[in-house]
Amino acid sequence: MPARDELKEKVQFAIDQRKEWIIQVSRTILDHPEPGFLETKTSKLVSEKLDELGIHHQAGIALTGVKGRLTGGRPGPTVALIGEMDSLKVPGHPKADPETGAAHACGHHAQIGMMLGAAVGLLAPEVMQSLAGNVALMAVPAEEFIDVEYRWKLHEEGKLGLMAGKQEFIRLGAFDDVDMAMMVHTTSREYDGKFALGGTSNGHLVKYIQFVGRAAHAGGAPHAGVNALQAAMIALNAINAQRETMRNDHTIRIHGIMTRGGASVNSIPADVRYEGRVRGRTTEAIEDANAKVDRCFRAGALAMGAAVNIITIPGYLPMINNETLKELFKENAVRLVGENQFVTHPRYRNSGGSTDMGDLSHIMPVIHPYAGGATGHGHSTEYMVEDYETAVINPAKVMAMAVIDLLDNDAARAQEILAKNRPAMTREQYLAFQSQRLREELYEGR
Ligand SMILES: [Zn+2]
Ligand SMILES: [Zn+2]
Repeated sequence: MPARDELKEKVQFAIDQRKEWIIQVSRTILDHPEPGFLETKTSKLVSEKLDELGIHHQAGIALTGVKGRLTGGRPGPTVALIGEMDSLKVPGHPKADPETGAAHACGHHAQIGMMLGAAVGLLAPEVMQSLAGNVALMAVPAEEFIDVEYRWKLHEEGKLGLMAGKQEFIRLGAFDDVDMAMMVHTTSREYDGKFALGGTSNGHLVKYIQFVGRAAHAGGAPHAGVNALQAAMIALNAINAQRETMRNDHTIRIHGIMTRGGASVNSIPADVRYEGRVRGRTTEAIEDANAKVDRCFRAGALAMGAAVNIITIPGYLPMINNETLKELFKENAVRLVGENQFVTHPRYRNSGGSTDMGDLSHIMPVIHPYAGGATGHGHSTEYMVEDYETAVINPAKVMAMAVIDLLDNDAARAQEILAKNRPAMTREQYLAFQSQRLREELYEGR
């Protein structure tokens, strides 16, 4: 059986051989951006590429998700390599779909390339046969928690339980045969170098709010109406007044968008919708801020004599990076790009964003490292993956090499991680926790 280093050489060689094929996958997805739970073209492309590689897979998980499998020479743990499929909506982005505004302003298109790239590496002769365990290749929908009205509708129709990709994968049992997972997100932060790892993220609750007023002639009879837009504005001002009560160490972020502001200018707005987020460092901090935010929504309705329907949707949990997986990822990343291109963030560093990889990290060992190669601020019109070698090829190699470390030698390192692991929740506890965070309240301010 080839030695570990020999396997790693084979993996890197195979990825280099198919470099153009791998990068082309990412570029194709960049050119066809699709937001969460609408990734039909992306999903089809992933299926076609897995077929080309001869990888057996299942499609249509959580509407658009795809899961393939590579089987090792002997039984052992299963390591998932995850790629996120969804785009954001950032109209004005150079690669935005002119009709929908969808754009890969978070670099998820690079993740599908790197996940398939890692598969290409692991398919090199003798590699999987030398390993004790399996690899799950997972193209997961909807990491960006956007289009809340659309997702709520899918939920009400029974097409979605939880309303983000990895959350729904967990609920559907798609992770039940997986023991640990990794993915790599692109970054444009110069201080991250070619690879960065560590830190945590905010958790959150998602808000879907409907202010209900009464339509009336805006010029002739405003006294006969109830202005839902004014109710919403009072609520948002009240939220802003609350900001001084938020503790710095809770890293609270409250933000949102008005998705409907009224139907016509000469009719008093009677149906106004707001989609938002309450983020924070811990579940308790989020609940504390969320209670204040809900009071503000009620205050807006009360002031105007409107009603407000407050829907609180289970969002994400803060990220926990597994320490042993981190070390192992670092070893391979440093081997590829050198020590001075690898950045380790302190364990409690929190840049304010959120990911549903945090949810998965509560039930199994995971890591969520970053790879460079992008420029411009994330989620902005400037965010572009420029260097595909750094953003796609490098992480593909490092993930494949990390799999070898985990599953080589009778999967000794994977077994060591599992033996030491104390998950924060079981899958059942996770589902119970999320289900009690789903709340709907109709408040009548009239
Ligand atoms: Zn993002
Ligand atoms: Zn992202």
